[in-house]
Amino acid sequence: MRSTMMDVPLTVTSIMRYGTTTFRGKEVVTNTGEGVRRRTYAEVARRAARLANALRRLGVDGDQRVATFMWNNAEHLEAYLAVPSMGAVLHTLNIRLSPAQIGYIATHADDFVVIVDASLVPLLAEVLPHAPTIRHVIIAGTPAGEPVPGAGPLAGPGREVHGYEELLAAGPDSFGWPEVDEKSAASMCYTSGTTGHPKGVVYSHRSVYLHAMGPCLGNAFGFSERDRVLPVVPMFHVNSWGFPFSAVLCGATTIMPDRHMQPAAMVRLIESERPTVAAGVPTIWQGVLEHVRAHGGDVSSLRVVIAGGSAVPHSLMKAYDELGVTLVQAWGMTETSPLGSVAVPPAGVTGAEAWPYRDSAGRLFCTVQARLTGDGGAVLPQDGETVGEIEVRGPWVTGAYYKDDDPQKFHDGWLRTGDVGSIDEGGFIRISDRSKDVIKSGGEWISSVELENALMAHPDILEAAVIGVPDDKWGERPFAAVVVRDGADVLAEHLRDHLAASVPRWQLPERWAYIDEVPKTSVGKFSKRTMREAYANGEYKVIQVG
Ligand code: ADP
Repeated sequence: MRSTMMDVPLTVTSIMRYGTTTFRGKEVVTNTGEGVRRRTYAEVARRAARLANALRRLGVDGDQRVATFMWNNAEHLEAYLAVPSMGAVLHTLNIRLSPAQIGYIATHADDFVVIVDASLVPLLAEVLPHAPTIRHVIIAGTPAGEPVPGAGPLAGPGREVHGYEELLAAGPDSFGWPEVDEKSAASMCYTSGTTGHPKGVVYSHRSVYLHAMGPCLGNAFGFSERDRVLPVVPMFHVNSWGFPFSAVLCGATTIMPDRHMQPAAMVRLIESERPTVAAGVPTIWQGVLEHVRAHGGDVSSLRVVIAGGSAVPHSLMKAYDELGVTLVQAWGMTETSPLGSVAVPPAGVTGAEAWPYRDSAGRLFCTVQARLTGDGGAVLPQDGETVGEIEVRGPWVTGAYYKDDDPQKFHDGWLRTGDVGSIDEGGFIRISDRSKDVIKSGGEWISSVELENALMAHPDILEAAVIGVPDDKWGERPFAAVVVRDGADVLAEHLRDHLAASVPRWQLPERWAYIDEVPKTSVGKFSKRTMREAYANGEYKVIQVG
């Protein structure tokens, strides 16, 4: 029997319509460096309509890709709403990749238009020679009529340059938003390429809508109109974890850092705009913490800080507890929109008993089903002990890559995450490593994440990264690279003893190096690939201990 329910699609258009009318007076606040600029959601909707009209005039009349090359700001939010709602596809380009890599991605996606922040014009000029499909460049973030330094090289044969504000000034304030199919593409994002070529994930209107509701669930972060949300995670990285869509949907104020993401600027913004919720990778929160410790600062407005993208060190969560701010770990990937799980302890579990839950990668969302697989794809028990590869499926999980067959990543309708860990009966997942980072010593697995966490809990250690390196006897052994806090002096022997308190002796690294900084990927995660290359090239001054 068919249901009697209406077949009304779940779309970005409906997020925009609801959020910008019901909460019309709510604002998107953008940091300018000297202060902030504010724009109401009603104004955002009017400008989104103007943007859609402008894009239509430039020839966007179907599912053309409209790329963005932008920081987190009000104009980027306008593109987030306008582009999918007009039936086109928003493609957020990661500004931190190399020009050739960005060009590869833009060409693979067949980008037709790119909207760029004025401050990023020189970077885009380096990308365009690698991106022949781009026909229109729209420069945002500068008053109408004002010349943009470095914009000259953007124009070329078959490519026009426009001013965002000039285009919007032509109006009108309304647009005939089409009724789009909820299964059609709304936006796309490429994986950051830590493993091979970047791969395109195409989000549907339906998946964006459902995912936008995720953070609003009480079991997750309970976003509501009482919140002021500060998404620090870039809007070019997995839709800023979907938070801009969630904020508009639930009527929370959105606070955008723009390009001012240095710890001092972040702390100033938090003090002046008093966000209740913020989100970003652990390195961002480590920086903010160091700044507050060294110079003071009031971050007490934050009821929750969401951290993810890589394992969140226990020591970092404890340090935020001391500031009166709860740091909640979340797990996910570009392929999962990205929210997969949230590490909020079960009801009634508090204090010391909460730590095993808070330290985990979190409890799975209702929309994300997971299983564990072992050798040959055998399905393993979810008993909290057995370790295998985590596979997921669900309505906001991708079932393929854009124009790229990758049978290795999909398995009987499940996505292979490449993360190795366990799942307990309550749906909490614990990640010991990424499959390619796993250290296999004498046939036994060593978790690099566990070693890193234990090292970063040491008061003299700022950052620590552990990789597996070749070893004649054991096949592989852990190599630990540590960044020592300014003014501290700590021997590798001492660090080994420190680890021995929480890690079995056979897992203790014999090879150590002191480094100035752990190399990071384009989205701020530890780049173990860079470390493995550096190790292989003999670039580390390795100290043998034990
Ligand atoms: P990339 O694969 O290029 O790093 P993603 O940003 O999609 O791109 O990264 C997803 C991966 O990040 C996950 O598969 C997982 O390995 C890691 N990750 C994300 N959140 C966590 C977490 N809370 N704990 C451990 N690893 C995490």
